[in-house]
Amino acid sequence: MAAGAALERLVRDVADFPQPGIVFKDITPLLADHAAFQAVVTALAAAGRDEAGRPVVDKVVGMEARGFILAAPVALDLGVGFVPVRKAGKLPGETHAVAYALEYGEAVLEVHRDGIQPGERVLVIDDVLATGGTARATADLVRACGATVSAMAFLMELSFLPGRATVGEVPLTALAVI
Ligand code: IMP
Repeated sequence: MAAGAALERLVRDVADFPQPGIVFKDITPLLADHAAFQAVVTALAAAGRDEAGRPVVDKVVGMEARGFILAAPVALDLGVGFVPVRKAGKLPGETHAVAYALEYGEAVLEVHRDGIQPGERVLVIDDVLATGGTARATADLVRACGATVSAMAFLMELSFLPGRATVGEVPLTALAVI
């Protein structure tokens, strides 16, 4: 199954969730289908390979919570380690922390300082690129570790929001642009 077809068929739009006016992209039907899940993991992992198919990243980072589900199998596909970026207060070790703006208020994301080594090349994976705030904060955390964001890959990019501009000069792949 092609990744694009999997997304088209198995991502469910849920109106007014989690609040009125939002159309939520629910990926759980896609995750429950082995062929579809495999197709999107393979397609996301391609963002961490060169033209000959060789892995060109040292780590894959995923953001809490849906990013974990996708980034971990992408890391295994590429043969590299997985590093979680978590909401504030969840990681037990020494962390770097970055605050970013939400529609109302602020949130903080963290990464373990020893999760990513200086000089490493990192692929960032998440399900949805919306305003880009989460992706931008994650890129800042990777750079705080002294590493480079080689690429970012998402299942879906919401093109009516400025996610791409917020993220800036990073190679960015979206399997579907909505
Ligand atoms: P952003 O920071 O505004 O780009 O929002 C992206 C984050 O919110 C990602 O971690 C997504 O998992 C989550 N998100 C935003 N919109 C949706 C959606 O429609 N479905 C699932 N997750 C979403």
